[in-house]
Amino acid sequence: MIHRPSLPWRWFLGLAALLAALLLVVNLALRLTLPAYLRDTIRHDLTRSAWLAQGNFVGLLAASPTEINQRAHQLAGTTGLRITILNATGNVIGESSAPVSELPNIGNHLTRPEVQQAMRDGIGWDKRYSATVKEEMLYVAVAVRTGDQLQGFVRVALPLVEVRRTVAHVERTIAFASLLVGLAMLPVVFVLSRRVSEPIAEMRQMATRVAAGDFSRRLPSLGHGELNDLGRALNAMATQLDGRLRELDKEKADLAAILAGMAEGVLVADAAGKIRLLNRTLRQLFELTDDALGKSVLAVFRKVELDQLLKEPGSREVVFLTPVERVFTVNAAPLSGQAGTVIVFHDITRLKQLESLRKDFVANVSHELRTPLSIIKGYIETLLEEQPTDPATARQFLGVAQKHTRQLEALVEDLLSISALESQQARLSFGSVDLRELASMVAEELAGQARDKQMTVGMALPADLPAVRADRQRLSQVLTNLLQNAIKYTQPAGQINMTGRVVGNEVEFCVADNGPGIAAEHLLRVFERFYRVDKARSRELGGTGLGLSIVKHIVQAHGGRVWAESVVGQGSKFYFALPKT
Ligand code: ADP
Repeated sequence: MIHRPSLPWRWFLGLAALLAALLLVVNLALRLTLPAYLRDTIRHDLTRSAWLAQGNFVGLLAASPTEINQRAHQLAGTTGLRITILNATGNVIGESSAPVSELPNIGNHLTRPEVQQAMRDGIGWDKRYSATVKEEMLYVAVAVRTGDQLQGFVRVALPLVEVRRTVAHVERTIAFASLLVGLAMLPVVFVLSRRVSEPIAEMRQMATRVAAGDFSRRLPSLGHGELNDLGRALNAMATQLDGRLRELDKEKADLAAILAGMAEGVLVADAAGKIRLLNRTLRQLFELTDDALGKSVLAVFRKVELDQLLKEPGSREVVFLTPVERVFTVNAAPLSGQAGTVIVFHDITRLKQLESLRKDFVANVSHELRTPLSIIKGYIETLLEEQPTDPATARQFLGVAQKHTRQLEALVEDLLSISALESQQARLSFGSVDLRELASMVAEELAGQARDKQMTVGMALPADLPAVRADRQRLSQVLTNLLQNAIKYTQPAGQINMTGRVVGNEVEFCVADNGPGIAAEHLLRVFERFYRVDKARSRELGGTGLGLSIVKHIVQAHGGRVWAESVVGQGSKFYFALPKT
């Protein structure tokens, strides 16, 4: 990965590069123009020096070469230039860089370009390699005249090395100055770059955090200007986003709570029929996990009806095996924008069960009513049609009618009891009930019936049997029903015992007889409404088939339990247990 410098550094490097470029351009411009200018200036200086030197030699050209040469040496000493004196024919008569003895050896200089030019114009110059001093030189020659008469030439020369040295020096100075300026500017550039880039870096950092969902950070004020406006806009944006997201979160949480708290199962499928959401109820009902998410509704529920509902939203009843059979009203409604479908599962299994119970009950009741009614009707019709009936037969008929009327009465009474228990469960009037006292009272009430069958009813209830919290009247109905059954179904001269004891937190009461007993397959069901082991015998004995179901109802309304134990041929034991007070 290529490492990218941070924003402040990029700004700094950019500005520094700009500065360097600027200095480079200035440098180049100076380098291009300055040497030429310097050379010009040096040539002008040289020209001036040549004129000055010429003044020195106007009257001197006629003097002896020794004198002239000496003068040349003198001038060269004071000016630092090379001085050459020529006569009008171009012979060297003075040379600052040679002793007088050497002069004759120096060649004629008349053909030199600067001399030629000086002859024509009074002054001339040239730049070339000097054979005499073996160096590149810059020459300026001036003609010496008296009136119109050419006397000779004075030539001054400067080694180009020196010119170059000067130029190089100036160039070096410029470069050095540039470097100095550059270095001096660096801190300024640094501060400048930070001032520009820091707020931008902060904004970027904040924007990154906002993008990651952290809205806590705010940018400081930057006074005025666009950057400050931008910062303020970013702050406002963060505040607004924060608020919006909080609102959304809250709405989401509310929705999740509603969905989780719903008794109905809820499923959301996308447009392709894939499951996107399942609420808790639905998960529990169908034992689903997150694995179901993303799968198709058909694959998970294996119900064509659901698939049809996805295609054509509406409502219908669907039976599922979950694994027990359950019936649901399933409602499907499209989500806005064709985004999918929401399906609500309303469990109506219990409703259905209750409905069928109710139907069964009505059928049972009707049946129970019809039998005695048709008998009564039959006897009355006979009595009316066969006139005159002999009084003995008439009396016998009326006796049968009366018996079935009592049966009807008992049935209606039991039905009323059940209806009262079902509708007024909360209206039990609780009090402290002594079971010993209540049992003896019930036994007393039924003593006649027992005596008729030569039965003995024994009671073995301990004196310290604790009282129970109960509705005395209802509890007496429980005891009556149980004792009455024992008397009814036990053969004459049978034995009935009522016992009681404390077991754990409960007071347990038992009515035992030595009657025919009840087979195991009936034992649990005898507490159901209208359930009889032997229908004909029960009717014959005036039973309604509701007695034990009333017992169960009352005991359960007291928070207790009922059960039965029996050995066929030996007898039955009916128990109930109530919480101890
Ligand atoms: P019923 O009015 O027919 O007595 P119950 O609900 O009181 O209705 O009893 C249901 C059935 O349980 C009775 O029909 C009978 O077959 C059986 N049963 C109840 N008590 C006894 C008992 N002590 N001994 C034998 N069978 C009994």
